[in-house]
Amino acid sequence: MDEIVIPLLLWFEENKRDLDWRKNRTPYTILVSEIMLQQTRVEAVRSYYKRFIEALPDFESLAKVDDIKLLKLWEGLGYYSRARNLKKCAIEVVDKYNGIFPNTYAEAIKLPGIGPYTCGAILSMGYQLRYAAVDGNVLRVLSRYTASSLDISLEKTKLYFKQEIEKIMPKEAGTFNESLMELGATICMPKITRCEDCPLRNTCKAYRQHRQLSYPIKAKPKEKKILEYTCLFITDGMNYILIPKEKDLLNGLPSPILIDHFITSNEAIEITQDLGFIVRNIEHLPEKKHIFTHQVWYMKGYKLYVKNLLNYPNYTKEQILEELGISSCFRKFLDDLWN
Ligand code: SF4
Repeated sequence: MDEIVIPLLLWFEENKRDLDWRKNRTPYTILVSEIMLQQTRVEAVRSYYKRFIEALPDFESLAKVDDIKLLKLWEGLGYYSRARNLKKCAIEVVDKYNGIFPNTYAEAIKLPGIGPYTCGAILSMGYQLRYAAVDGNVLRVLSRYTASSLDISLEKTKLYFKQEIEKIMPKEAGTFNESLMELGATICMPKITRCEDCPLRNTCKAYRQHRQLSYPIKAKPKEKKILEYTCLFITDGMNYILIPKEKDLLNGLPSPILIDHFITSNEAIEITQDLGFIVRNIEHLPEKKHIFTHQVWYMKGYKLYVKNLLNYPNYTKEQILEELGISSCFRKFLDDLWN
């Protein structure tokens, strides 16, 4: 595979996209951008990244930030455990390594939230160490290039390609990793290939076979679990009750009162009354659907007007919109709540 190195580096030099996180490369900015880019598109990350780095420019500021501000900066990106792990990682980098990201694989891989991909990305791009960073883009490019019959959903396949890349890794390790990822993101894309613009087409096996889209081989994912919930938004007309969740549920973000099945409006009133409220009125909100990694939630919603909010934690519309991190699945109801 070593014939891919020079063409890829030359192509990348000419064609790389102008991305904010490529401008001021430090292990910290690489870490933040790579974690944001996991499961989120480049276009969506652009504005979040800028705002995040302006507010928290280094490991020290991230280690000290309070959770509400952190989740607010992350709000909209989803997968909030990534933000929490980022902070945990920053705390450890500050406490154990004086604010400097470690430059050995053995130390870096032990930090919270750092897997083989992120570890390889930071060490190669931040320190030019010869480690591969194998993400979905890289797996796709190499599977096509070698017409590989290996199932890319298996860890052993990732490990195989990681080892293959490290065998041919040039001294410009970070740039090489990036060029592979960039090729996957802009030329050798999941549903379309721009082989006529690809620097690897002369030696690409899938291209020669005219079977580009037959690769990579991937086992079918498990069906997502379908769940039904009812959300009760209890309000006195001004403030709304939101309950903080356990850390392992909805990432600890506040949520409306949540019933784990569909209920009728009469049942919603009864439940609210059982909680001690005097219900004045009820509105049925349009149903919502939210897709998580392994689950699909169908949600009914009711807005219940009550006489007073007793001692339950409650928030104004402004606090909910501007200060509180609220899970994106419930955020879908907000427009209807205030219509
Ligand atoms: S030639 Fe086509 S299939 Fe092969 S790596 Fe390039 S874009 Fe992908």
